[in-house]
Amino acid sequence: MDCLFCKIINGEIPSKKVYEDDQVYAFYDIAPIAPVHFLVIPKQHISGAAAVTAENSAVVAHIFEVIAKITKDMGLDGGFRVITNNGDDAGQTVKHLHFHVIAGKKLGWSSEQGD
Ligand code: AMP
Ligand code: ZN
Repeated sequence: MDCLFCKIINGEIPSKKVYEDDQVYAFYDIAPIAPVHFLVIPKQHISGAAAVTAENSAVVAHIFEVIAKITKDMGLDGGFRVITNNGDDAGQTVKHLHFHVIAGKKLGWSSEQGD
């Protein structure tokens, strides 16, 4: 399948790893919008938030456990934001479910993404 994030998971495209286990992979975003900006993705290809079902949602719960662990380990005590874009209106450019974790500065809030 021609999916950028599947290629990152299988090592075809290099990335800067933050965390990995049997279900998820986390890596730094190539175009960070904040001092800390990484992505957490399921290893299983799910096209986006709209494709989450009762059958595959366990990995989403696991992703949030992983986000809690990584942000603790990074010492992001001041806070962080988790964003997932779904579909063209939201600006989803990669059709593989991913959660942006952004932090490291005081984040504003707007319909853009909050900076
Ligand atoms: P979205 O716009 O929500 O679909 O997010 C896709 C994200 O993937 C963007 O923030 C991009 O900067 C990021 N991105 C695209 N290609 C790469 C790559 N090769 N390595 C790391 N991040 C990437
Ligand atoms: Zn994929």
